[in-house]
Amino acid sequence: MITIDREFSKRLGNAALLKAPSVWNALGHKATTTFAVENPATCEQIAHVPDFSRAAIKSAIDVARTAQKSWSRLTAKDRADRLKRRFGLWHDNLEDLALILTMEQGKPLAEARGEIRYGASYVEWFAEEARRLYGDIIPAPVANQKIMVTRQPVGVVAAITPWNFPNAMMARKVAPALAAGCAIVAKPAAETPLSTIAIANLAEQAGIPVELFCVLPMTDAPAFGDEVTSNPYVAKITFTGSTEVGRRLMEQGARQIKRFGLELGGNAPLIVFDDADLEKAIEGTIAAKFRNAGQTCVCANRIYVQSGIHDRFVQALSDRVETLTVGNGADPATAIGPLINPASIKKVERLLEDARTNGAKIIKGGQPVDRPGHFFRPTIISDVDCRMAIAREEIFGPVAPIFRFETEKEVLDLANDTEFGLAAYVFSSDIGCIFRVAEELETGMVGMNTGVISTEVAPFGGVKQSGLGREGSKYGLDDYIELKYICLAT
Ligand code: ADP
Repeated sequence: MITIDREFSKRLGNAALLKAPSVWNALGHKATTTFAVENPATCEQIAHVPDFSRAAIKSAIDVARTAQKSWSRLTAKDRADRLKRRFGLWHDNLEDLALILTMEQGKPLAEARGEIRYGASYVEWFAEEARRLYGDIIPAPVANQKIMVTRQPVGVVAAITPWNFPNAMMARKVAPALAAGCAIVAKPAAETPLSTIAIANLAEQAGIPVELFCVLPMTDAPAFGDEVTSNPYVAKITFTGSTEVGRRLMEQGARQIKRFGLELGGNAPLIVFDDADLEKAIEGTIAAKFRNAGQTCVCANRIYVQSGIHDRFVQALSDRVETLTVGNGADPATAIGPLINPASIKKVERLLEDARTNGAKIIKGGQPVDRPGHFFRPTIISDVDCRMAIAREEIFGPVAPIFRFETEKEVLDLANDTEFGLAAYVFSSDIGCIFRVAEELETGMVGMNTGVISTEVAPFGGVKQSGLGREGSKYGLDDYIELKYICLAT
């Protein structure tokens, strides 16, 4: 059912990572067509995968429902042991998983290895947390009563993930869901289904019942949304993607009061004050802006630089960007891979054209690279202001727009002037200033003097229209849990 390009297949040490997951046999609805997966660095087709229909989604939910009941009755230790085994396999297959990721998504291999380790860290973390699903005993207000609170799995979870972190975004959902005792039916982005198929196969090898985690590649994404928001056996929908699709899913799910975990769009401000350590601010900006070619929801989208350091910052950033090699992610020299598709290039061109027309200056880059694949030159623009479309929309490309500001109050007002509230970054050597600013920023996460903040031990998530719920950390299981209160009269 899955066909892989010969050359690609030969490079994999463990080709079984891309076999058809066994749960597909249990669905009773085979996909009758397939769709192609392309390498965005070469535009070559690297695989064909089944294109599942709505009937298969329904069937996967039915199968998951039965499996979830048995899974939730296992001891927490048993669930934890299997998740730990899966963590081990994830590491044993690191090179293959990274290659699969680079081939379908484009990011440089070194970043792909980082994503695989990051995904694995959630499996390890939630294997550990699985054993700490404690409840409470509450002192009763009435004599001869015991009041207990237990934490129970929500049931069957539907997961929808984007193409920018196909391994880690799915790992962040599957690991806590399984740890809590839930089953999961998952739809990866059609651009990048292979990484998710590989992690489903790892789950199977680790002894996790196949019906508990069913990955369904498909091109008709709305069919998945329609089914999971209307199927009474789906208890929760966990979605990472655009605010627009998240809103649509919530509207659809409102009829059945579905639970939602939503990681949506961002428009992260990165603020550099005059007294910042310039080198730290540059390295932080490179990490927060150019990782994954600027295609992350926590990417610095608006870079505010105080006027006293502005010109030095622009020059130093421009020199540093000069060292970033653009190319195929499989080449070890590559720092910036391709964008995911031609539409992404068009969007970046549109935003740059709008900025240019309204007075922004192109300091570096500004055009696509003239070669096959969807490559765009790392770009810096200055003299950007809040009226330009680039200040409002998520860029999702390697473009650093620089705004000049004078005062702390002014930059806070500008930074918070957005419907999004995912991440923010602040660079300053005045500890009082960064704490004041960090507290005032309307975002779920703040990096102070760093551009890299994601870790499995901390809660990842946004406020305002950037989403609901948190992934990772001790809070991350809450999304997959319902509290149950039991009152015992003695
Ligand atoms: P992006 O712009 O990053 O592709 P999207 O929100 O469009 O963001 O896509 C994120 C994920 O949501 C992908 O897996 C995509 O296929 C899926 N998706 C898009 N539209 C819908 C929908 N109507 N219902 C369910 N999933 C959807």
